[in-house]
Amino acid sequence: MAQIIDGKAISAIIRKEIAHEVQRLKSETGTVPGLAVVLVGENPASKAYVRSKGKACAEAGMYSEQHDLSADVSETALLDLITTLNRNDKIHGILVQMPLPKHIDEHKVINAIDPNKDVDGFHPVNMGKLLIGEPGFRPCTPLGIQKLLAYSGIETSGKQVVVLGRSNIVGKPIANMLVQKQDGADATVTICHSHTRELATVTSRADILIAAIGRAEAVTATMVKPGAVVIDVGINRVDDASSDKGYRIVGDVKYDEVEPIASAITPVPGGVGPMTIAMLLFNTLQSAKIRAGVLSLCQG
Ligand code: NDP
Repeated sequence: MAQIIDGKAISAIIRKEIAHEVQRLKSETGTVPGLAVVLVGENPASKAYVRSKGKACAEAGMYSEQHDLSADVSETALLDLITTLNRNDKIHGILVQMPLPKHIDEHKVINAIDPNKDVDGFHPVNMGKLLIGEPGFRPCTPLGIQKLLAYSGIETSGKQVVVLGRSNIVGKPIANMLVQKQDGADATVTICHSHTRELATVTSRADILIAAIGRAEAVTATMVKPGAVVIDVGINRVDDASSDKGYRIVGDVKYDEVEPIASAITPVPGGVGPMTIAMLLFNTLQSAKIRAGVLSLCQG
């Protein structure tokens, strides 16, 4: 039986610690960490994510504000809002919920956010810092994965890590984080994608397999080395007539097949997902601490 890596429980511990630190920061410096979340359009999944981020801020004692823009808002109006938020001293973190409508250039929007308020860690300055191992904001989902491994006592040093997926928000950053010459890293990392040949041969070498491809239950037992640690980032909807909603959420890993041969595994839901929001709070708190002068640099 695999160790079940309980992201819900671990994120609850982290969020409690963050709430405690928020109170301390408030009483010692008067600074209240503030997050601005910008939502463009009516995408139901994005709306739900934004709602839960606002709720999480409130629970941690942070200030948050939500900016709802219509789907046909101009790129210029969105960039103007970001400029205003960059200058707003109450705001320590700015998050623009992706995806954006097609007429808006995501890169332009990300580049417009002040790197010192880029709590999503997507700005090229923070991505560059990640690559060369300098302190900076790390993207929330990869940071959450690294913390899950650490909290679960899973050693990464010297391990073969295979990352399935090369997106800018999960695959590339987690691969770059785990290859750093640092505690919680020092792994030998391979990145796979849709052009990778003999995928199962490559994934079967992994001591730690991280799946972030967005393909429901695509990672089967034949792709996993017995005893491997399996981190499932995927969030996929599959039809399920027995559910009230008509669907259920599954990961990228065929859990029932893989769990019996893995040494540790994250469930979906309840694995990586809850860590992403916890890390957003973590980054916002760090940003506020830096502004208040009680922290000099981001800590991973
Ligand atoms: P993207 O769609 O941006 O990237 C998917 C990557 O997987 C691409 O690099 C693609 O290759 C690769 N890929 C797709 N199919 C295969 C395949 N059959 N074999 C090998 N590689 C493949 O996805 P994201 O990184 O944004 O998200 C991945 C999953 O993680 C999604 O299910 C998403 O919902 C989930 N997610 C979960 C989060 C959380 O908080 N838990 C946060 C963010 C994402 P190529 O580059 O060649 O196209």
